[in-house]
Amino acid sequence: MDLKLNPRPYTTAQSALSEDGTFQPVSYWQETIDVVPEPPLEGEHSCDVAIVGAGYTGLSTAIALKKAHPELDVVILERGVAGHGASGRNGGFASTLFGWDLLTTVNKLGKEKGGQVYRLMYDAIAHLRSTIEEHAIACDPEYTGYALLSTCAARERHLQKEYALAHELGFEHHWLEGDTLDEHIHNEQYRSGIFDPKPFIMNPAKLSRGLKDLAVSLGVKVYEQTPLIKLDDGDPATLQTPDGTLQAKRVVLALNGYASALNFQSSTVLPVHSYIVLTEPLTDAQLTSTGWHKNRAGLETARNLIHYFRLTVDNRVAFGGDDADLYYHGAFRDHDPRIFTNLEAAFRKSFATLKNVSISHRWGGTLGVTLDMFPTFGCTGDRQNIFYASGYSGHGVALANYAGQILSPAILASLGLSAPETTATPFFYNRNTFPLPPDPIRYLGMKAYAATLRLQDKIQGA
Ligand SMILES: Cc1cc2nc3c(=O)[nH]c(=O)nc-3n(C[C@H](O)[C@H](O)[C@H](O)COP(=O)(O)OP(=O)(O)OC[C@H]3O[C@@H](n4cnc5c(N)ncnc54)[C@H](O)[C@@H]3O)c2cc1C
Repeated sequence: MDLKLNPRPYTTAQSALSEDGTFQPVSYWQETIDVVPEPPLEGEHSCDVAIVGAGYTGLSTAIALKKAHPELDVVILERGVAGHGASGRNGGFASTLFGWDLLTTVNKLGKEKGGQVYRLMYDAIAHLRSTIEEHAIACDPEYTGYALLSTCAARERHLQKEYALAHELGFEHHWLEGDTLDEHIHNEQYRSGIFDPKPFIMNPAKLSRGLKDLAVSLGVKVYEQTPLIKLDDGDPATLQTPDGTLQAKRVVLALNGYASALNFQSSTVLPVHSYIVLTEPLTDAQLTSTGWHKNRAGLETARNLIHYFRLTVDNRVAFGGDDADLYYHGAFRDHDPRIFTNLEAAFRKSFATLKNVSISHRWGGTLGVTLDMFPTFGCTGDRQNIFYASGYSGHGVALANYAGQILSPAILASLGLSAPETTATPFFYNRNTFPLPPDPIRYLGMKAYAATLRLQDKIQGA
């Protein structure tokens, strides 16, 4: 395998650092953290495991490896700073979604496998919560649960089936309507919902930096401002950066939506962009007018083009979703005025009592999306020394933070080392992913698919 950085990789995405080397926040969450970037890799180095990318996938893998075998030499190379990618920009919902909701997942994978992946997702949520609590990671967690809301009769029927299936498979879900719905949100747009008490919300950028600090405290060497520009998967593998070279027995590509810029997984994991708008802090009266003040659960609508919304600790509303866009030739973007306009209109429609609240922040980030929306974990290369986890399709907060539990036993086994608490290798490890045809067919196909989803939402009144 010979991976080379695409010559125009990030032309329209904002860099993590300004020319004078200071951190440039892209999201509101990143404005809430202090970042002194770690120095870049310089000169020649070697290590046991090199991890490329310091989002949740890379950090959780580094932490799992060091916890299992403190003597391992683990190095992270990060192009910007830890949490510059989706891990520092997302909605902060640690949810159970495995690409799709439970009902759709079971329809696609069958009851046995669908149940297995959802049990794994609950383990992932519990793992993230215990990591935050055990290491006192100050990321403003709120253990509020999560509710999926219906906005039309068709989606209400879908939720009723989802609720019945969740019960059959033994998951704790609560049906919301009338007074029970009112305890979560008072809004005539929402007919009914399902409440799941296990998911939670947090500040995703604080979580990223907290995980980075934890990794460093465990002895992981983190080089920020260090893009991988070329990878040769020999034995050892050689990773080239602008000012240095790193030789590694094993490599983990933890790049998610950015992988295609290195020509890795470029026909199977697409760089799709998702956006969020955020309000000024609500006054107590404004908050009470929404009926959201009692439980503060993270909320999502059961539409094709989902809307998800939550409160921050200072009572701003983060409102995200709607269109998620793939740009021509896989370009990267942080801003899309058309989607910001749609999102703001959807926010105003959903919260009539907040019509005078202004929007203070708008941002976006890159997701890794597979054709079937299920994630991809595995090992590749002629020498089977390149590991990866990606394609969370917009739902990686819980699962990318669990990637270390899934990848580390395989990495350790390949080095002849045992994993103390081995998570069973999930059936989707090393699965085949379907490739997409190149542009313009890819681009036009995705646009047509998105238009169909939007039209169906419109017809159903969702
Ligand atoms: C707007 C938005 C909202 C979202 N909301 C949610 C949500 O509420 N719940 C949920 O579950 N999921 C959500 N997601 C998805 C979730 O954030 C991601 O699935 C998850 O963060 C993926 O983590 P990661 O570590 O795999 O990737 P990333 O966090 O993207 O990390 C990849 C890292 O690789 C680095 N990198 C790239 N190229 C190179 C290179 N050449 N060399 C070195 N480093 C490189 C990047 O700088 C980046 O730090 C959202 C995503 C977005 C964009």
